[in-house]
Amino acid sequence: MSDENKSIHEFDLELICEYYSQLERQGPGSPETTIKALSFIENLTDDSLIADIGCGSGGQTMILAQHTKGKITGLDLFPRFIDIFNSNVKKSNFQDKVKGIVGSMDDLPFGDEELDLIWSEGAIYNIGFERGLNEWRKFLKTGGYISVSEASWFTEKRPAEIEEFWMDAYPEIDTIPNKVAQMQKAGYIPVANFILPENCWIDDFYAPQINAEKVFLEKKAGNKAAAEFIANQRHETQLYYKYKEYYGYVFYIGKKLNKNNI
Ligand code: SAH
Repeated sequence: MSDENKSIHEFDLELICEYYSQLERQGPGSPETTIKALSFIENLTDDSLIADIGCGSGGQTMILAQHTKGKITGLDLFPRFIDIFNSNVKKSNFQDKVKGIVGSMDDLPFGDEELDLIWSEGAIYNIGFERGLNEWRKFLKTGGYISVSEASWFTEKRPAEIEEFWMDAYPEIDTIPNKVAQMQKAGYIPVANFILPENCWIDDFYAPQINAEKVFLEKKAGNKAAAEFIANQRHETQLYYKYKEYYGYVFYIGKKLNKNNI
């Protein structure tokens, strides 16, 4: 990659990050679904260690903190998100329980068998579902849990337009049974999975973006990359409304098995 390309690439990420910083959540989800996923997880105590990987500004982390025992480390690649995350920690008075750190999900700063729970909403795709499940497993204690949400197909076949969109965006999107099989193969008991209801996209994710897009475009008036980015966001939203019976986000909850049982 030339230096010129690299800087364009970084600029785009910075732009995307700036846009998403305006929002409470950076992916589809809701307090209710976070709490529902948490209901499948047992045995957390005040000493439990929890990691929220790709935590963004921490919308779901603060919900987790309200409803779990244990200490939570939120980790995200972007310092801008972690700054907002840590100011949210302060606002919620969770300083003793939650901290945000900058880091990358492909190089996690945790010890082997240290964690009781790995959480990751709408973020594991950055490293890939199978790779994430396999690589993160070593950080979990035996009997510890992983709980991730991931884009998934609801049907065996779909219209070409949406198939092509996802093959370009995230070719690892797959059907729910295939994702569950991948989880089992990676050494977890597939404890539960459920589809995030449409309101997680429509009310919690897309509705706040109507104003965020407006504000962003006003702030970035004359910026071609910003205008293109927002046009892209709007296209994605339209695709969701058109094809939501074919895909969505699914929570997958697994429990780490003893090696001998894999
Ligand atoms: N969990 C949040 C954010 C989801 S968006 C929510 O549900 O609202 C995906 C997040 O993954 C973004 O915050 C992005 O900055 C983060 N991310 C992308 N690549 C990453 C990496 N390599 N390591 C850690 N975080 C990453």
